[in-house]
Amino acid sequence: MPNQNDLNLHEILKKYFKLDQFRGVQEDVLQRLIKNKSTLALMPTGMGKSLCYQMMAHLQKQLGFGDLVLVVSPLIALMQDQSQKALDVGLKASFLNSSLSFDEKQNRLQKLADGQFNIFFVTPERFKKQDFLDIITKIKISLFVVDEAHCMSLWGHDFRPDYARLGDVVKKLNTPTVLALTATATPFVQKEICEQLSLDSEIDILTSGLERPQLAVRVHDIYGEPEKFEQIFQIMKNHPTESGIVYFSLIQSLEKFSAFLQKNKFNFLKYHGDLLPHQRKGNQKRFMNSETQWILATPAFGLGIDKSDIRFVIHDEVPSTLESYFQEIGRAGRDGKRAEAHLFYDEDDISIQMQFLDWAYPDRQFIEKVYDLIHDKYDIVQQSGFDYLREQMVFKNKKDYRVNAAVGILNRWGCLEEVDNLFGYKAVEKPTEDHFKVENQNLLKKEHQKKLLSLIQWIKNTNTCRMVQIYQYFGHDNMNDCGQCDVCVE
Ligand code: ADP
Ligand code: MG
Repeated sequence: MPNQNDLNLHEILKKYFKLDQFRGVQEDVLQRLIKNKSTLALMPTGMGKSLCYQMMAHLQKQLGFGDLVLVVSPLIALMQDQSQKALDVGLKASFLNSSLSFDEKQNRLQKLADGQFNIFFVTPERFKKQDFLDIITKIKISLFVVDEAHCMSLWGHDFRPDYARLGDVVKKLNTPTVLALTATATPFVQKEICEQLSLDSEIDILTSGLERPQLAVRVHDIYGEPEKFEQIFQIMKNHPTESGIVYFSLIQSLEKFSAFLQKNKFNFLKYHGDLLPHQRKGNQKRFMNSETQWILATPAFGLGIDKSDIRFVIHDEVPSTLESYFQEIGRAGRDGKRAEAHLFYDEDDISIQMQFLDWAYPDRQFIEKVYDLIHDKYDIVQQSGFDYLREQMVFKNKKDYRVNAAVGILNRWGCLEEVDNLFGYKAVEKPTEDHFKVENQNLLKKEHQKKLLSLIQWIKNTNTCRMVQIYQYFGHDNMNDCGQCDVCVE
């Protein structure tokens, strides 16, 4: 093994990544991983978490402690993107998922077994497949990466049962060094991640801080939709050549605002669940390529959105937690230049969120019925997508989104698998007693209501800097006032 001091991390950074400096805790994370110390790293979205494991994949041969960086990622779309990015920085990368053909899967498994990859991406469900386990347990894993590690905790904002089994997977793989990554985890969630992965929450956590020195957050108290639309439009009109996202909780309000913009002849894109997959993909691409600068979107828009020059993130309605709010505004200003986040708050919107929470946690019977429909009537579901399910379950009440929630839950549980058709999923495993026991929807709903309350308190608190309040929520004290939010400025 070469002397560890011989490794010049900066040279590698320049050579493969074409970068001059590390950001946040990247270098500290690498120094720990080189010494085989498992780590939970908290870094804001867009800061560069992937670089930590990409760099390790470049180093593993030199360090002589393994052959493969294995990355667990929650979503197929995210995984494809990450694999492509690893290829871009000169790594031999690939991934496995359910959308590949049988032959292609076999081909990749064979290559994996032959040691032809430096880095490999999988979803956590993959560890339930024997053919994969047979191969992966024979490979010397240099680093086991848990991306979006908050999915391990029931109290994170996107729990996935298969993530909660990763602690066992690590043991099965002879306990390689682990790197857990997340942008948003409260102190409680951090502790849970550490427990599951056998990390010491006192010493194994590195935090970049959540600082976004150039992001100016502004909350606007407002009454009524016309006033809201007018003010949002003012911002857009004043910055037509700059890039921005306007988030809506409801597709209806999005469509209303869309009609308003059309009347005013403003050029924009849309992204929401009622568009066809190819329309969504096309619009996302046009936005990413800066062909059109503004996009109206529901929260579904954003995973993996890495566009560095987004100058505005605007919320037409309050989101449901500070976690999701922070994640959404974190898409602005990744180039380090000044960016603005505007939240339009109408007290009446709270009732929308309360109603939303009721729908977000459908009961057992509802979830089971949705599963059965997908399973038994797949021919129809495949062709008509959510429309058919909604017609059967909620009598086409477009606002009632329990069907979408149930599909989301079944997908997180691994009862559905993502596939490439109009509906986007197929049934693989009926939900069991265990699923419903582990994840008590009622308890989760109560917890979520508390989070909504914290968000409202944040909106109402005009005594403490907006950013300082957010830092405190995520367990960071002693941060300085940002000097540019509405509280600091007014
Ligand atoms: P996330 O932390 O959200 O996972 P990514 O790993 O996807 O972020 O990286 C976001 C962007 O930051 C990428 O475009 C990446 O190239 C860039 N990046 C990573 N590290 C650095 C760095 N040290 N300096 C400048 N840009 C960086
Ligand atoms: Mg990431």
